[in-house]
Amino acid sequence: MNSKAVIIIDMLNDFVTGDLKCERAERIISNLKKLVETARKRGVAVIYSNDAHYPQDAEVVRKWGKHAIKGTKGAEVIPELKPAAKDYIVEKRTYSGFYETGLDSLLRSLYKGEGVRTVILGGLHTNMCVRHTAADAFFRGYKIIIAKDGVEAFTQEDHKQGLKYLEYVYNAKINTVEEITKEFG
Ligand code: ZN
Repeated sequence: MNSKAVIIIDMLNDFVTGDLKCERAERIISNLKKLVETARKRGVAVIYSNDAHYPQDAEVVRKWGKHAIKGTKGAEVIPELKPAAKDYIVEKRTYSGFYETGLDSLLRSLYKGEGVRTVILGGLHTNMCVRHTAADAFFRGYKIIIAKDGVEAFTQEDHKQGLKYLEYVYNAKINTVEEITKEFG
């Protein structure tokens, strides 16, 4: 029985081409495409963890300004990574994919209730939403794999420090998409 799930974080129009554009997001799209397509073929669950903000959310008002407002085009997954019918979409309202969302119960319900043991994280940003989602996964006992060439940040410095932190603090495995998909079996 499979025990992994791929979680794609915030690969939304606003983060890739819109209001909160990350120039470096472009370079991970094809790797993530390979990751989700291989996962689907091998029966590994694919989950999209997407910002879907109310305009009054703390993150919007106090930090980033308008981005990924629920129901807008900016809050949709980029066309290249469009979710398939069997994928799951879990909306979030701040950095962590687990914070006040149904992600944990979804993970526990998968694979006929056997649940997910290992989460594979890709998307944006290495040092923010990926990091906070990894933290919450760690607190809940999940093992963590980070798609090294499937996560990015605003700068190379942020990205590199982000990876280092994930490895050091959450004992995350830092693997390439190639290495990850080889282990899908
Ligand atoms: Zn946000």
